[in-house]
Amino acid sequence: MSTEASSKAFEQAQNLIPGGVNSPVRAFSSVGGTPIFIAEGNGAYLTDIDGNKYVDFVQSWGPLIFGHRDESIEAAVIEAVKHGLSFGAPTQAETDLAQLVVSMFDSIDKIRFVSSGTEAVMSAIRLARGFTGRDDIVKFTGCYHGHSDSLLVQAGSGAVTFGNPSSPGVPADFTKHTLLATYNDIESVKKCFADSQDIACVIIEPIAGNMGLVPADKEFLAELRKICDENGTLLIFDEVMSGFRASINGAESITGTTPDIVTLGKVIGGGMPVGAFGASAEIMAKLSPEGPVYQAGTLSGNPVAMAAGFAALSKLKKNAPVMNVLNARAKRLVEGMQAAASECGVTMQIDTRGSMFGFFFNEAPVKNFADACNSDAELFAKFHAGMIKEGFYFACSLYETGFISTATTDEMIEDTIKASAKVLKAITN
Ligand code: PLP
Repeated sequence: MSTEASSKAFEQAQNLIPGGVNSPVRAFSSVGGTPIFIAEGNGAYLTDIDGNKYVDFVQSWGPLIFGHRDESIEAAVIEAVKHGLSFGAPTQAETDLAQLVVSMFDSIDKIRFVSSGTEAVMSAIRLARGFTGRDDIVKFTGCYHGHSDSLLVQAGSGAVTFGNPSSPGVPADFTKHTLLATYNDIESVKKCFADSQDIACVIIEPIAGNMGLVPADKEFLAELRKICDENGTLLIFDEVMSGFRASINGAESITGTTPDIVTLGKVIGGGMPVGAFGASAEIMAKLSPEGPVYQAGTLSGNPVAMAAGFAALSKLKKNAPVMNVLNARAKRLVEGMQAAASECGVTMQIDTRGSMFGFFFNEAPVKNFADACNSDAELFAKFHAGMIKEGFYFACSLYETGFISTATTDEMIEDTIKASAKVLKAITN
């Protein structure tokens, strides 16, 4: 297998783009080696510029629940393009997508569209602060909420991989209102509330996907809800990753805890740049132009992006039982890999939520970020490189989550398990 063209392309890119990439994790830094440059995607497959074909378990980091080049999403985008790329004026497409999301999330009466998950979360925090008139926020170590200043504190994902829990360039003054708690540890939350009477919101990934896949315990979320209610604090579920992946009706439908504000991204845009945040009509009424909390965007609600999102979500809503199929495949995949690891004397911790899957080379169950950090990063890097050579494209950091698309067949899953057995045997001998 040659990846010569990718290596050359990476060299050229590094001369012009910092690190050769437009988002750090893509550089493969945590697993070593050279990133694969992609020529095209089709269904469950990616083809690189050397002509190598891979089964894709990244799916653009989550958005492509129907795989690459889904026919109905592609058709909707092409149709929308024919009418113009952007107007900076309202379109029916925005209301149609809003209606669809509101019908799927009980906690959302009104929604505002933006162009990324980062923007969605940043705006949701501002709204929570504006609504409560308070400044402090609580976030959990290892949860990633995009790269806005006040949230780039002990974040997971690429921020962990690159050892930048707090990035240079973020003034300490900007993060002094961010209090840190430990995921799945209610005592750490109580400590934050003991330390501050000015907490506007608690933000959490209810199904964390940026320290590997680490779902929050139901009891923990229920306690969190109770503490927020007792203190007049808003609870934000960041579902940029888990939204429409773990359940089409949000984490609130599977955890039993209802948030005050939900942030969305990835699947909601069907592969186009879309983020969103939504809440009750009362909270959303604070948002400009209805209320005083300012938020805006030249390309927000872009008609082509709205068309892609509408095509993806309406297809998902019509085919809701597909979630069970995806979950069964995700389960079979990680259970098969776990069995293969066990044969090599390696303990693997696994979990799935809908079409999201996670695995850690770790002796003990993973409940929080400190547990995740105890995983064998070296073994993960070797596993990742081995799987790439076998034609299986996994996320290039142990702090990421994997994704199954409807184009990922049972046969592909069995092939992946077989390849993982081969790779694990080779790297543990
Ligand atoms: N929130 C969560 C939970 C995410 O997983 C991400 C990105 O992975 C973001 C926010 C930021 O989204 P974006 O990369 O679209 O800015």
